Amino acid sequence: MGLGRISYSRVGLFVSLLTYGCQQLPEVEYVTEHAEIGTYFDAPLCAGSIARVDESIARYALLLDAVSSQKVRIYWGADGVMESCDVAGLHDTLAGCHIIGKNETFADSGSLEHELVHAVGDRIGGMDSFFEEGLAEALSGGIGPAPDFERRPSSFVGLSTADFIDTPGSRSTSRHFVQFLIDERGMEPLNELRPLALRGTTRDQVLEAFHAVYDTPIEALEDAWVERAPLSYEQLGDLALPEDQWRGDELTIQRTLDCDDVSTMGPLDGVTIPEDFAEQEGMYQRITFDVADEDSYNLDLQGSGARARVREEECWIAADDAPNELELGADVPVETNMGACRFSATLWVEGTTTTAVTLTIRRIEKAG
Ligand SMILES: [Zn+2]
Repeated sequence: MGLGRISYSRVGLFVSLLTYGCQQLPEVEYVTEHAEIGTYFDAPLCAGSIARVDESIARYALLLDAVSSQKVRIYWGADGVMESCDVAGLHDTLAGCHIIGKNETFADSGSLEHELVHAVGDRIGGMDSFFEEGLAEALSGGIGPAPDFERRPSSFVGLSTADFIDTPGSRSTSRHFVQFLIDERGMEPLNELRPLALRGTTRDQVLEAFHAVYDTPIEALEDAWVERAPLSYEQLGDLALPEDQWRGDELTIQRTLDCDDVSTMGPLDGVTIPEDFAEQEGMYQRITFDVADEDSYNLDLQGSGARARVREEECWIAADDAPNELELGADVPVETNMGACRFSATLWVEGTTTTAVTLTIRRIEKAG
């Protein structure tokens, strides 16, 4: 498939070595409209992953009212994150970090979207951790456990980055409360708040600025949040509507994994292969499909070296349960019960040899 290719230049001949402290940063290998990317791994970035970075930066810039021609400098890869983020004096268990004021973003594949929100927001300036982290989580579509609603959001305001990270409930509360604020009032007050609540601003000053831009004290919005916020915002995940249609009791999903095509993401990462967070050469596509009736289904994957992870996406949070998920290998059909839900399937292969993959899901007719 030659359709959907994007234009980007792969720069591989940088001679000068960039250094950060005593460390060597990877060379910039990919230059796109909105980003310059160096990677800590040898595997190629597939066209879909590169395109997604550009789309995300453009989207976050519009949302945060921070459009700029400056390219975001990204150092991509699990290997570089720990030491680089540690050097910056940040918590050493982070999956990524954006160095405020330096246009340097370190991220593994799982944290990249979150860190890009910080990188774009930093065009105006890094905010108080509670709002900064809440925005990064909410805008990047993070799904996570609901907060306990017992600790007030304002109690997390004014903490240092390290204290914020170390405080139980900080991430879930910030994500959830900021999403509530966006749903109630949109992005504008948050964008007005940013320059008034930059990192280092005292708690009192942040809360005073909040009162001014929302025209109400934070306590009133906290009360509203406790009263009427949904338990979770599970629809925030990247759950595009299904493209493939059922024909009777059968759904056939055919895709071509091609690293040069924007349909295809790569390398493989901790999202694709949960047990190994380091990027490795490979390609994947993530698709969604709906199951209308709870029943037994036969899942059959075809394609040389193909693997798939099928996961129930929209029913598990409300049910207060872990998501149902299963792994499939090529030519090993599996029978399983599936609920009436939206599902995601990640179709993947190791390596970057273009591969046709077919996933067939067939409802097993019950006797009688
Ligand atoms: Zn963050």
